[in-house]
Amino acid sequence: MKIHEYQAKEILRGYGIPVPKGRAAETPEEARKVAEEIGGKPIVVKAQIHAGGRGKGGGIRVVNSPAEAEKAAKEILGMTLVTHQTGPAGRVVRKILVEEGVEIKEELYLGVVMDRSRECPVIMVSREGGVEIEKIAAESPEKIVKEWVEPYVGLRPFQANKIGYELGFDPGQVGKLRSVVSGLYKTFYEKDCLLAEINPLVLTGGGDLIALDAKINFDDNGLFRHKEVAALRDLNEEAPLEIEASKYNLNYIKLDGNVGCMVNGAGLAMATMDIIKVFGAEPANFLDVGGGATVEMVKNGFKILMSDPAVKVVFINIFGGILRCDTLARGVTEAVEEVKVNVPIVVRLEGTNVEEGRKILRESGLNFTVASGMQEGAQKVVEALKTKG
Ligand code: GDP
Ligand code: MN
Repeated sequence: MKIHEYQAKEILRGYGIPVPKGRAAETPEEARKVAEEIGGKPIVVKAQIHAGGRGKGGGIRVVNSPAEAEKAAKEILGMTLVTHQTGPAGRVVRKILVEEGVEIKEELYLGVVMDRSRECPVIMVSREGGVEIEKIAAESPEKIVKEWVEPYVGLRPFQANKIGYELGFDPGQVGKLRSVVSGLYKTFYEKDCLLAEINPLVLTGGGDLIALDAKINFDDNGLFRHKEVAALRDLNEEAPLEIEASKYNLNYIKLDGNVGCMVNGAGLAMATMDIIKVFGAEPANFLDVGGGATVEMVKNGFKILMSDPAVKVVFINIFGGILRCDTLARGVTEAVEEVKVNVPIVVRLEGTNVEEGRKILRESGLNFTVASGMQEGAQKVVEALKTKG
C-alpha cells in the first residue's frame, strides 16, 4: 500500500526526523490559511498523488505569499498531473501539501528497501539526490553508499556513522545524519515497509538536515498489525478494478497488455504471464483466484477481468488442486452467461476433476478454445489475437 507525502511526513516526524512545517489542504482557501499560519516565505505548494516526478511534471510551486499560495493551489488542484511514474494518463490532483520553503544547500538521497538477494534491508544514501536520482543509479552507481542491516541485530550506530564518513561529512553532520538514518530504518522496520525513502533529504545553509520529500510503501501482508496505517489508504489513488478485486479477496493487478489472464496460484500466474510474453503478446493483468476459490470468486474474478476494455482475448490457465476444475468451469460459464463476452476464450485445464470441468465447458454451448498445455494455450492466444486484427 502506498500513502501520500504529507502522511509519510507525519510518520517520519513521529520518528524524530525533521520535516518542514505545513499540512495538507483540499481547497485554495484552505491553502491560503495554511500559508498564513506558517507565516513566512517562501511557501511551497505540492501536489499529492501516489507517484513521484511531480517536480518535473509541474506539480510543485515555490511562492512568496499566502495570496500566491492560493493562486498556485487553484492551478494545481484538479489538474491531471503527468509524470514519468504516472503513465501517459496521469493522475487528478485532489489534495495539496502547503509547507514552509526550505533553503537548499545540498540534496541527498536516503532510502531503505528490501534487498531480496541478500534477504535483508539495505540503506542507500547519495550526496547526489533530488530529481535525477534514477540517472545517478543507472550511470554512476558508485555515488550511492550502501549499508546492509541484519534484521535480528538491527542497525548498529557504527553503520550509520560509516555512511556519514563515506559521504565525506564532518563529525557534526555525521551525528545529524545518524539520527535521520536511524529514524528512517526504525520506520521501515516497525511499520513493515517495503520502501521508506527521503528524496531529497536537504542539507540547509545552517547545516541542518530536513526531509523535503517522503515516500513510504507498506507490505500489505503486515497491514493487519497497523490499523493506523491501513486507515491512511486513499482509494482515489488506486485502480478501480484493483479495489473491486480486493473486496472479493482476489489478487488482481492491472497491467498494460490485452490478454486477460485467469489463473490459480501466484507462481502459475507469473509463469502464465511469462509464456504469453515469450509468444509475443502482453498480459492485461495478473489474477490469482487463489487455491480455495469458490464458484462465486471465480465468477467475480472473471467479471473484473472482463470489465477491462483493453482485454481482447482471455486465457484461463488452471491447475486444479484444492480449486477443482469443475468449480472453475462452473464459475466461468456462469460469468460468461451473465456478462456479455465477445472476445475469444482460451482454456487450459489440468488436475483434479479435469474431465468434469471440460465436460461443463463443452456442454455450456459457449465458445471456448481448449488447449492441452500451457505452450499450446499461449500459441492459441496469440492466434486469436491475430485473427481479431
Ligand atoms: P518529486 O519530484 O515528486 O520527487 O517531489 P519533491 O518533493 O522531491 O520535489 C522536487 C524538487 O522540488 C526537489 O528536489 C527540490 O529541488 C524542489 N523543492 C521542493 N521543495 C522545495 C523547497 O522547500 N524549497 C526549494 N527551494 N525547492 C524545493
Ligand atoms: Mn522527491
